[in-house]
Amino acid sequence: MLMPPFELHHPTTVAEAVELAASLMEQNEAFDWVAGGTDVLPNYKWRINPKPHVISLAGIEEAHHLSASEIGCMVPLSSLTAANGVHPLLVEAAAKIASSLIRKSATVGGNLCLDTRCFWYNQSEDWRRSIDWCHKADCGTGADCRVIPNQNTLCVATYQGDLAPNFMVLDASVVLIGPEGQRTLPLSEFYELDGMKKNVLQPGEFLLKVELPSDAKKRRGCYQKLRVRESWDFPEAGIAASWLPGDATTLKVASTALESIPRLHDEQVEVHLAEGELDPVGLAVLVQKSVKPVNNTALPPRYRRSMVKTLTKRALRGILD
Ligand SMILES: Cc1cc2nc3c(=O)[nH]c(=O)nc-3n(C[C@H](O)[C@H](O)[C@H](O)COP(=O)(O)OP(=O)(O)OC[C@H]3O[C@@H](n4cnc5c(N)ncnc54)[C@H](O)[C@@H]3O)c2cc1C
Ligand code: SF4
Repeated sequence: MLMPPFELHHPTTVAEAVELAASLMEQNEAFDWVAGGTDVLPNYKWRINPKPHVISLAGIEEAHHLSASEIGCMVPLSSLTAANGVHPLLVEAAAKIASSLIRKSATVGGNLCLDTRCFWYNQSEDWRRSIDWCHKADCGTGADCRVIPNQNTLCVATYQGDLAPNFMVLDASVVLIGPEGQRTLPLSEFYELDGMKKNVLQPGEFLLKVELPSDAKKRRGCYQKLRVRESWDFPEAGIAASWLPGDATTLKVASTALESIPRLHDEQVEVHLAEGELDPVGLAVLVQKSVKPVNNTALPPRYRRSMVKTLTKRALRGILD
């Protein structure tokens, strides 16, 4: 597959990147951010919404910073698995992403901003043309969504990143920066249900870094992932759990690869704890009931949902035992 033509920009500071984005927007020129390129560049080769301009974040020194409490967007996943001081839960989750080769280029920011996925969408241009496109990449035809038809407004493509639920159960925040300035918000508030909009990033804004609170290092965590091939596949379902050992009120559970967004299950934890002692099976049933996978990834939604109970039980036992 040939790469479509685009102009590649290389800012070396955050200010330069933001200025560049603002100037392209002023000229009505569309662009994408690129980090490691392991997701966006294969999509470009498949002519999935390519843009005429691409801004690389690789030259921004600040974006490469890595410590126990601050992780820059350009930190490669291979550094997360190798660096001393990184929370063991993040090491465990990063080690389960893709293959060792991909983890050398793939970044934390790219993983958190990963495009949502769907088997009607992650296909070559010829394949998609043969079925007359779909709403998310309709090529100007106004094509409908093939998973939930007759609505033409919402895309229910699945978010299949592994890091997000793990950062969520560690109470992580994200620092976003763009032409309107800088803001920080909990990662649990970063994602948006529409598989086309995906997250709260505004035009010209990018995710600069992830911050962890000081008590994150005291949390014990566990991540359970369902995938087709252990060697490198995206999650078909993923459950992360963490707590401050001995204190059930600090328990956090989050899921990924089951809906358009990864999300925390605070409501289910609260309802469960209000009923009495922490019981992995009881809580696993509540989490399972709360997720609604649709038919757009490799494994059937019924199976993925049934596995949520198993994964949640395993994750909870992993932190309680
Ligand atoms: C064979 C294969 C297997 C894979 N398996 C897994 C897996 O098991 N689990 C998993 O989670 N992922 C998997 N991936 C997806 C991908 O490799 C990773 O999610 C990776 O971390 C993406 O990071 P990147 O730097 O390459 O992102 P890029 O491809 O550079 O970018 C991804 C998206 O994020 C945007 N973006 C990047 N950085 C920023 C930023 N700082 N701010 C705003 N937007 C940004 C880009 O515009 C693009 O839309 C797999 C990919 C392949 C090819
Ligand atoms: S969920 Fe629907 S609109 Fe979204 S990518 Fe899949 S088929 Fe297209």
